[in-house]
Amino acid sequence: MRSKVFFKLLLAFVLVIAAATLILDFSIRHAWEDSLRADITQALTEKTRMLASHVSSDKTSTISQIVTDESHASGARATVIDSTGRVLADSEADPLQMENHAHRPEFAAALKGKTGVDSRTSKTVGIEFLYIAVPVNGGAVRLAYPLSNIERSTKDIRTRLLYASGLALLVATLIAILIAHSISRRLRNIVEFAEKIARGDLSARISESSSDEIAQVAAALDVTARRLEENFTALQLSKQQLETLLDSIPNAVVAVSADRVLRWANRAMQSLEPRIRTGTPVVESFRDPELLKALDSAIEQSTVQTVHTTSLVSGRALNVTAAPMPGGGAVAVLQDVTDIERVEKTRRDFIANVSHELRTPLTSIQGYAETVLESFPDSGQGKQFLEIIQKNAARMTRLTEDLLVLARVESGEDKLRLEHVTAATLLDDAIDTFDSIAKARGIDLSIHASSEEAVVADRDAIQQVFANLIENAIKYSPPGGHVLLGAAADGAKVQFFVRDSGSGIALEHQPRLFERFYRVDASRSRESGGTGLGLAIVKHIVLNHGGSVWVESELGHGATFYFTLRHSQASS
Ligand code: ADP
Repeated sequence: MRSKVFFKLLLAFVLVIAAATLILDFSIRHAWEDSLRADITQALTEKTRMLASHVSSDKTSTISQIVTDESHASGARATVIDSTGRVLADSEADPLQMENHAHRPEFAAALKGKTGVDSRTSKTVGIEFLYIAVPVNGGAVRLAYPLSNIERSTKDIRTRLLYASGLALLVATLIAILIAHSISRRLRNIVEFAEKIARGDLSARISESSSDEIAQVAAALDVTARRLEENFTALQLSKQQLETLLDSIPNAVVAVSADRVLRWANRAMQSLEPRIRTGTPVVESFRDPELLKALDSAIEQSTVQTVHTTSLVSGRALNVTAAPMPGGGAVAVLQDVTDIERVEKTRRDFIANVSHELRTPLTSIQGYAETVLESFPDSGQGKQFLEIIQKNAARMTRLTEDLLVLARVESGEDKLRLEHVTAATLLDDAIDTFDSIAKARGIDLSIHASSEEAVVADRDAIQQVFANLIENAIKYSPPGGHVLLGAAADGAKVQFFVRDSGSGIALEHQPRLFERFYRVDASRSRESGGTGLGLAIVKHIVLNHGGSVWVESELGHGATFYFTLRHSQASS
């Protein structure tokens, strides 16, 4: 099938050629007619002058005779009038029957001494004539030539012109077909090339031998296709490199599109969960609500979400981090923490078991040391040794107690008995417990700012937090110092603090303060009966409540320990 361009071009060419042929035909015909008429007018004028000279000079023949002879010789109708316009002789009609000709335009001009020229349809014969009249002595002579002769010869010319025009039109149309065919074929090639590129066949190429605008378009498209192919190849390569990289890491990685379709999964993911299928909705591969929620927030709120799940793959504990991808969708990295958690649990269990096993012998050592001391109060150096034994046994007991508590709060196995309790109640509980101890150490313990805001907390666990913080505050404050407690609402949380006027903590120690056994001054801590576990216990209890804990301090200017608990309204 021929293209639309072909027919449009052909139609345009043919219209232009036809218009040109018509205009040419029209102007040639008119030019021809005008020149023929001018020739005839000139020839007839000369013949009329000859008639005039015959009429003036030929005295041997009658006017009628001269008129008849001239008419035969020239093939035109000859007429002679006198100065009044009366017809003296006429080659075609009886002069007596003819009306006065003085007012015929050609005769009127001739009677005034000029050459009169006119063309009109003769009333007598009914065809168009060319009239030429010239003056003679005592009147004027006229020759009338029938213009039908001109028409006859014009018709002939017109027929020839028509044939020539037709032939020219035919040849021009054939040439137009060839040109239109060539242009439409070249355009078709470009269209087919562009369609191939659009279908993704970037190896397609096009070349044009000429240098016109069509060839320039083809060359520009060809360069574009080459560039596209180069860029596409580079992109493919970096995609493969990225895939290889992601396949080689031990963590499982999945990519999800904005419409929640699983787009890609690395090798670790496929071996972790062989049933996953890319190209299908993510819920068909992952049923874990935590993971799906994390992906949703990464996609919709563009936030990084980290969740812990044990239900995604049976028997495996996973930390999932879902992050938004530029341009929509999200990527989730799944870290298998089963082994780490197992080791952690083993460690915790071991510590708990050891602590538990040490409890009884330590109580017994302490008991016997006490009994011996009481039984032999004056045993000299022996008494001193026994006191050292008692002191260290007591320290070890505290240590085992703290280790047991830490193992419990770290594991989260101890279920919190959460209740709605006001901040003021928690602060009052703490003051009740520690007021006398503080007083005994010469420390002023008081509430600086209370609050009736309710929090969700395990009252006993929070008392443990206050106990550890207040004990430290008292321990590290000189006698006569102040320890202030306080609470204030802070958005969806309530913030508590324990502030002392003690030695303070240097900035470099603060980040590690909540680690197990981290002590700024180990000997001082040990001396004052510290285990180095108090703040680690505080941290885990607060974290188990969904809160956070931190310290603000400057060396020599006291320390303030903060922790937050969830507001009861925010939790309901
Ligand atoms: P410890 O049993 O040694 O007090 P903690 O875990 O309770 O162990 O505290 C860790 C370390 O933090 C302490 O050894 C001490 O150096 C420092 N510390 C804790 N509380 C205070 C405080 N209120 N003022 C100064 N230093 C403190």
